[in-house]
Amino acid sequence: MPELPEVETIKRGLQRLVTGKIISEAHLFDKRAVLSPEPALFKRRISGRRVLSVERRGKYILMKLTDDKLLVIHLRMTGQLIYFPNNMRPEKSTRVLFKFITSDELHFNDLRRFGTLWLINSADKSLLKGLSSLGPEPLSAKFNLSAFTQLLKNKKQRKIKALLLDQACIAGLGNIYTDEILYRAAIHPACRAGSLTTKEIGELYETLRTTLLEAIELGGTSTKDYLNTWGETGYFQFYLQVYGRRNQPCLRCSTPIERTVIAGRGTYFCPSCQRYYVK
Ligand SMILES: [Zn+2]
Repeated sequence: MPELPEVETIKRGLQRLVTGKIISEAHLFDKRAVLSPEPALFKRRISGRRVLSVERRGKYILMKLTDDKLLVIHLRMTGQLIYFPNNMRPEKSTRVLFKFITSDELHFNDLRRFGTLWLINSADKSLLKGLSSLGPEPLSAKFNLSAFTQLLKNKKQRKIKALLLDQACIAGLGNIYTDEILYRAAIHPACRAGSLTTKEIGELYETLRTTLLEAIELGGTSTKDYLNTWGETGYFQFYLQVYGRRNQPCLRCSTPIERTVIAGRGTYFCPSCQRYYVK
């Protein structure tokens, strides 16, 4: 599933490629891709709108259009937004195809079909529950060390991995980056948030930000279906240190990496570097 660095990479691509362009029409090959409004209305309301800006909030892409309309996109498991400078035949997995009057196109491809689109009035943003309940952006200035410390204090009993995955606590992290961040910070994923020392909290905070920034720099992680707006892979998968490395030696201490399940998600960790303890 695309996480913050992948969605950020897609957003940057879209910013460059479609800002200022006018959507001439949208083809809905799979009507269930659009949750609101109904398909006929969606098509009518989106045609003729110009893209004013493209933003990201958590794992959501927000495309601001003229007349105070907002196109909200969540890619979920396998969603892709691929740009073509000319007309291009849709693929089997293409659920929605946007045409611009400049005759370039944006294809929403989605093999597993969990991705979703909404076209709403900007003022109704708060009505999208998943979007309005998001926690702070981890790379924003507001999300400083004291805000992170307070968050851990408020959720003392939560396992640290579950807390990091909770979109209402911090926006944008998913299974790959939480494992990488906890490994790099040498913290066991099942540790309770309240058991972390001040030093560990500081390290976790720094690691969280630097790992995300590094991944954005490398254009995200392509383990399965993720591609950027040009249909290219990211490069962070070559720098993954723990995710997907079950039974392979830890890069720091050579202990075999283990896999367990935490918060319902497959979790990779080094049982020697990331010690579990209760304070
Ligand atoms: Zn180790």
